[in-house]
Amino acid sequence: WLIRCEQISKSFNITRGFFRKTLKIDALRNVSINIGFNEIVGLVGESGSGKSTLGKILLRLLEPDSGRLYFFEEDITHKRERELKNFRKSIQVIFQDPMASLNPRVRIIDAVEEPILLHERISKEIAFERAKEMLIRVGIDSKEFFKFPHELSGGQRQRVNIARALVTKPKFVVADEPVSSLDVSVQAEVINLFLNLQRELKFSMLFISHDLRVVRHISDRVYIIYRGEIVEEGAPLKIFSEPSHIYTKTLVEDLFEI
Ligand code: ADP
Ligand code: MG
Repeated sequence: WLIRCEQISKSFNITRGFFRKTLKIDALRNVSINIGFNEIVGLVGESGSGKSTLGKILLRLLEPDSGRLYFFEEDITHKRERELKNFRKSIQVIFQDPMASLNPRVRIIDAVEEPILLHERISKEIAFERAKEMLIRVGIDSKEFFKFPHELSGGQRQRVNIARALVTKPKFVVADEPVSSLDVSVQAEVINLFLNLQRELKFSMLFISHDLRVVRHISDRVYIIYRGEIVEEGAPLKIFSEPSHIYTKTLVEDLFEI
């Protein structure tokens, strides 16, 4: 496996209400998942089921309360930041809201150049060429290169985020609901773009969605998460044709009702 976690648990304390009572929320309970080399793994669950928390733990943006995280079979659960340099270079993330992850005052060509200059010791000229190539590759026309994020459509902005994430050739990408904010027609285009880029550039990806339909086309394998626990795992076709957990059954039935 490229990356895997074992028996991860994570809870949050929140303070609520007039009496400032502290509540403990179990966001994840004993979650184990594996992601293979060049594999696209879907993670599906309703809002609040713990998907983003799991994504953040796999990226070491959050530390788990218990459990283990392995990258190339090396235990990185509690490694300090300066020991994680190699890991940080190998991972990227794409979030749902393409506007929030782009700096409104940075031109898109500079936004794509930025991660190259951060991770690699190369000249500004070469970084510029690489950024241009990548933007063309994700379907951004050269006349848009010097525009600001607000001058682009939502779909174009998400393409810029994809270019930004992939331009450093990461080994592992977490895409957290990357098409959920886009129109349905644009969703399909962006999903196909992900598929083609994955075949060309060869990386592993955790693709998070609350929508089983979105994940079906892109995933080699799917995990279903329900209230902080993995309840089912398998090939997308198997999950569709013979869901075993009661929650997955309702997910699949809901799809056929529409
Ligand atoms: P999802 O991405 O599936 O919608 P999340 O992982 O964001 O779910 O959240 C899982 C649960 O943990 C939710 O109940 C959420 O409110 C809670 N949670 C997530 N992050 C925090 C946080 N930083 N502080 C407190 N509670 C949190
Ligand atoms: Mg989320």
